[in-house]
Amino acid sequence: LAVLMVVTLFAGCSKPAPAGETSANAPAKKIKVGLSLPTQREERWVRDKEKMEQVAAEKGIELIVKVADANMQEQITQVESLLTQGIDVLILAPHDAAAAATLVEKANKEGIPVISYDRLITNTDKLDIYLSFDNVKVGELQGKYITEKVSEGNYIIMSGAPTDNNAKLFKAGAMKYIQPLIDAGKIKVIAEQAVENWVPENALKIVEAALSANNNEVDAILAPNDGTAGAAIQALAAQGLAGKVPITGQDAEKAAAKRIMEGTQSMTIFKDTRELGAAAIDIAIQLANGEKVATNGEVDNGKIAVPSVLLEPKIVTKDNLKEVLVDSGYISEADLK
Ligand code: BGC
Repeated sequence: LAVLMVVTLFAGCSKPAPAGETSANAPAKKIKVGLSLPTQREERWVRDKEKMEQVAAEKGIELIVKVADANMQEQITQVESLLTQGIDVLILAPHDAAAAATLVEKANKEGIPVISYDRLITNTDKLDIYLSFDNVKVGELQGKYITEKVSEGNYIIMSGAPTDNNAKLFKAGAMKYIQPLIDAGKIKVIAEQAVENWVPENALKIVEAALSANNNEVDAILAPNDGTAGAAIQALAAQGLAGKVPITGQDAEKAAAKRIMEGTQSMTIFKDTRELGAAAIDIAIQLANGEKVATNGEVDNGKIAVPSVLLEPKIVTKDNLKEVLVDSGYISEADLK
């Protein structure tokens, strides 16, 4: 036992110092990171949070987490509180892209770098970095898929919350494929609406209204994410149309994966929140240590071209769902039952 103890102790000493410690003997100055998330309503945000907590713990980082209930005033209060807690870096996924600018300016005044997480913060030249997926590509994958399935007929076009910059990017990407067919007179848009706050109930109402105004003659639906797709499918089901109208989604939620296997939802977009969450913590550590962060793009936020790290989204259909989602461990076989 004594020998074992010595070995263990020795092994403990030879481990590299956790990030934030300069040497094994210096008093550990733990890096402190503030994380502000807009919501936990969609499953993905729960997973983003879990992943960041896990990686922060592994790397010896203190992570202080605040979640706003899709309410900007609440998020402002929470971030202002984070800024008084001695954080080295702020990871901020804004509920409202433009309104979050003041939070970035406040952090900047205190010398706290900000990572705009998943959603871009607009209207500020003080933002340090944007970490997300290629969101125009997300929309392109949706638009390409749906127009290949249905190249003419009646379309319902929904987009996400107007306060979320991602919603604009998703729609812009999708319209690259849909707009030419509208211009050619092939696609008729029978409803085109943003889903306020990304609330599924709002999507349900949009689809119900479009169905009843058009005698149920709907050929395709562009739904910006799985939450809104689920609600749209509920409206279709009420008319006996679930599975008959191709419909997009995004997020690779468990419920959506089930619907895809059952045939009521046509596709989803997989954005691996495990990668995004891990990258956020890594970047936070680099910023806290004053290191340069490697980026692979720039995204215009209305004031500056924000140095960006953009991950690749992947399309998921019935054909590759098991390979992409189950084999990678993102969801389990049991989730599909
Ligand atoms: C995210 C989506 C999510 C939506 C609603 C967007 O900013 O990129 O993954 O479904 O917000 O929370």
